[in-house]
Order: sequence, then C-alpha cells, then structure tokens
Amino acid sequence: MQICVIGTGYVGLVAGICFSDTGQRVICVDVDEDKIRQLSSGKLPLYEPGLAELLDRNLKAERLTFSTDLAEATRRADIIFIAVGTPPAPDGSVDMSQVMNVAESIAKHAQDRKILVMKSTVPVGTYSVISDLLKKTAKVSIDYVSNPEFLKEGNAIEDFTKPDRVIIGSGNSEAAQAVAHLYLPFMRQTNRLILTDPASAELAKYAANTMLATRITFMNEMARLCDQYGANVEDVRRCVGSDRRIGTAFLFPGLGYGGFCFPKDVQALVSMGQQRKCPMRIAEATHQANSHQVEYFKGLIDQHFQGRYKDKRIAVWGLAYKARTDDVRRSPAMHIVRWLIEQGAGVAAHDPQAMARARGELGESVAFSDSMYDVLQDADGLLVLTDWQEFRNPDFDQVKALLREHVIIEIV
Ligand code: NAD
Repeated sequence: MQICVIGTGYVGLVAGICFSDTGQRVICVDVDEDKIRQLSSGKLPLYEPGLAELLDRNLKAERLTFSTDLAEATRRADIIFIAVGTPPAPDGSVDMSQVMNVAESIAKHAQDRKILVMKSTVPVGTYSVISDLLKKTAKVSIDYVSNPEFLKEGNAIEDFTKPDRVIIGSGNSEAAQAVAHLYLPFMRQTNRLILTDPASAELAKYAANTMLATRITFMNEMARLCDQYGANVEDVRRCVGSDRRIGTAFLFPGLGYGGFCFPKDVQALVSMGQQRKCPMRIAEATHQANSHQVEYFKGLIDQHFQGRYKDKRIAVWGLAYKARTDDVRRSPAMHIVRWLIEQGAGVAAHDPQAMARARGELGESVAFSDSMYDVLQDADGLLVLTDWQEFRNPDFDQVKALLREHVIIEIV
C-alpha cells in the first residue's frame, strides 16, 4: 500500500508522519520547494511538539519521502489524501482553488484505480462537485472519501493517534473500509470510527468547530459581564465547567479565538446557511461577538494609556494565536501588536516559538528578543497575549526590576 498526502502544512504533515509511523509507506507532496527540501533533510518547517522525533525516525526507516512531483506521486499512490489550505474568500465563503487544483491534477495523472480522501475542511457538497469532476475527467475510477481532521495544533500528534473519533464519509463501502483500515492502529482500545455519508462528514467538521468557537465566545462574553458586576470570571468558569453536562474544555476566557480554522469555519457555516436560506444565527452571533472581544481589550489598554502611545514602549509576551504553536495566522495577539504600532507605540515582543513567523509579517517594526525578560527593559507595561505555560509563573522580582512602569495586563 502506498499512501500519498498532498499539502505538508499542520494537518498534512502530521497525518503523513503518523501514518508512516504505523509502518505505512507515505509520500508527502507540496508545491513549496523550500518546505520539501527542509523536510527531506529532516528539518521541520513548522513547530509542533514531538513531530521532529517522528519525522527523524520515519525518514531513517525509509518509509517516509517528500516530493514536489504531484503527477508521479499520484501514479504511485493507492490512497491519496488532500490536506491543502481552504482559506476564506472575501465574502466569507471557502476559497476552494487549492483543493480543486489538486483534484484536477489527480484526475489527470491517475493511471489506475485510486481512493481520494478529503482531509481539508471543505463545504458541504464538495463530495458531489469533486466526484463529478473525477467522473468527467479521469481515465480511471477514483473513489471519493470525506475524512475531516479534528487535530489541534500544539497537541496534534496525540489528537491524531488517540482521536476522539475518526469520521469517514463515503458512498462506497469498500473505499470507506480501506481508509478505516489505516486508522486501526489508533483504535486498539476502543473503536471510535464513525462511518457516515459524505455530506454528514463534511458538515460535522463545521458543526464541531462552530460549537467550540461558540463556547469560547460565550465565556468571553461572561468575562465582560463579570467586569461590569465585579464578579470573578475564574470562579464563574469553574462553577459552569464543573457541571458534567457542560464540561470544562474550551471555556477559558481570553482575547478571542483566532488561528487558521475557527474564524474561517464559523464564517463558512454562516455562508453555507445563507446559500440555502437557512440562517445560522448562532454562528453569526459568535463571529460578531468574537470580533468585539479584541476591541474590548484594545479599549482596556487605551484606558490605561489614556490614548497616548507616543514615546511609550510596550512589552508583549506571546504572538501565536495560542500556546504550543508557531502559527500566527489570524492571531489576536498579532492584531493587538499591529494596532499598538499604528497608535505610535514602540513594541518589544517575545514568543517561545512564533517569532520567525511574526517577524515575517511585522518586519522590523517590532523589537523581537529570544529572552522573555529582555523585552521588559524600560517598558511602560507588559501585555501577556498568549497562554504559554512559561508566562504563568514568571520571576516577578525580575519583571518588577526591568519594567519602568509596573503595569501588567494579562489577557489570557
Ligand atoms: P497549511 O496552510 O498549514 O498547509 C497547506 C499546505 O498545502 C501548504 O504547505 C501549501 O504549500 C500546500 N499546497 C497548497 N496548494 C498545493 C498544491 N496544489 N499541491 C501541493 N501542496 C499544496 O494548512 P493546514 O493548517 O494544514 O490546513 C489544511 C486543511 O486542514 C485546511 O482545510 C484546514 O481548515 C484543515 N484543518 C486544519 C487544522 C489546523 O489546526 N491547522 C485542523 C483541522 C483541519
């Protein structure tokens, strides 16, 4: 069996490496030559805890290879996973160009029977669009399976190899079983496979992400209300989360959700509802309330500095959209940093993993430092914007000695 994974981002790379670690032969393909060069030489182009060791082990075992040649990889593969990006289009719908390009190439280059597995998050109905395309343009039979991914960056290996569930949506039971077989090594204690139809699989991914985004947003609104009434949101959160019907996960208030998935997936669900004249009012409200959250904190910062940022130097801890990742896509922390710069403040920032990516976006407008304490030197305040563990219990004596003004605004 030869597996091919197209797209070596946070999802494709984790999937490819973890399948390879079960003994499968895997070839990972990307258009980004630099990424493929780095991966072939054993270097990860992104940060994900534990992934470097798995990459190394599977490269050495010669089960895992990397390539930019999609045509050749397609010819060799039996099962092809698509894990390319599905970014938002300007109107909130899903930009499907990367997925469609790859599907067209697979149809063109397949010379014998294949199974195409959709791991990218794609709108409901993609199954029919791509199945039609494959039927019209491929010379051979290609079965389509929807297999949305639920991993979290920062915990991706654990999530992939000990999943809460694996959803397999297909109209073809033979193809579904072949894909299910790949996950059996991760299902030894309990079978957590959910076999369903493709439309349900596609929709389940958006439903799950919107539910999680809504929980976060609900608690953020509670935090704002706590501020108004002098209540302690930490206590409220514990009281709410201790109810077993509710549970504790995804109830921590903060700067609002960000990253590559929640913002675009919530908006895509709204867009899917609009297309079928079935308004997704909760998703709409979640999107709006989340946008307000970062504005609320800008207001609090403004209140402290009284709108005067000239000649102020502000230290920032945390740039990634959450802890344990280097991903700064749609990071609320980056939004705050950009806004501070626009207001005329000088910003000195530290993040344990995301500084290279942040520098790629912010350039020299921010003074980055590898030391979380160096950025505090003569700063007029510290903003803690990402919930990295090392920011939870810092050396406060050192913090106090370095800051010019003893102001800490912790938003996570
Ligand atoms: P990513 O941007 O990190 O990676 C996508 C990769 O695809 C890039 O390396 C890009 O170069 C490559 N690519 C684009 N076009 C290509 C082509 N024609 N041929 C080969 N490679 C190509 O994206 P990601 O975060 O891994 O997300 C991928 C999909 O998985 C998205 O649909 C996303 O919504 C979904 N998803 C993401 C996460 C997450 O936590 N990041 C979790 C679950 C699902």
